[in-house]
Amino acid sequence: MVVLFFGPPGCGKGTQSRYVARRLKIPAISTGEMLRAECEADSALGRIARTLLANGELVGDGLVNAMVRNRLSKSDCRSGFILDGYPRTIPQAQWLDRFIQEHGHTHPFVVHLQVSSEVLVSRVSGRRHCPKCSRVYNLVSQRPRFEGKCDVDGASLVRRADDAAEVVIARMRAYNELCEPLIEYYGRANYHGIDGHRPPEEVSREILEILSPAPVRMRSGRRFAAR
Ligand code: AMP
Repeated sequence: MVVLFFGPPGCGKGTQSRYVARRLKIPAISTGEMLRAECEADSALGRIARTLLANGELVGDGLVNAMVRNRLSKSDCRSGFILDGYPRTIPQAQWLDRFIQEHGHTHPFVVHLQVSSEVLVSRVSGRRHCPKCSRVYNLVSQRPRFEGKCDVDGASLVRRADDAAEVVIARMRAYNELCEPLIEYYGRANYHGIDGHRPPEEVSREILEILSPAPVRMRSGRRFAAR
């Protein structure tokens, strides 16, 4: 199974893709996260990507496709994968199609999380993450138990550099320009628009129902974790 998560910054696609990946036992791959890791490692790709990420601009298709190819060629992707933040352009989608055909995967499901811009702005401005374990929090809706500290390892929470207001506006603009053509490209057959304003558990349930037609029982008694 191949699942593509579409949605603007702050729509919850990172949280949902990680949760759904655990349930389906396939990896969730975020190109944004991979690129941030390259920047942190100060690799050749990271040095090219750094300024683009800082300004909310897209990294070139060739570089991103090569990075995705390396990741998708790993053995854990053999029975499927979830992509969060990829493809972002038509050439990326065309490249992915070829990869999917070459490797005998099925046509992708497109899960599009839809959230109004007012809600997105408030979510993104409250978003914090743990630099150690990557768990994501929100100062309004998913607060850590102790202020500013990760529940898992106690590390001090940080804000993504590209969550600054002016960069978020550039990222949303880039998203709005590119999303419609991509949705058209994939067609309506496997497209699922999801209302992302609801609590994360409800959104997950709907996504899992779409992806696995058997009734989905959410794990009870467990707090929904964003990683
Ligand atoms: P995200 O975490 O998906 O919001 O991505 C953060 C940033 O990484 C974006 O603003 C882009 O600069 C870059 N990026 C992530 N995915 C892609 C992609 N598929 N193509 C080009 N740039 C990307």
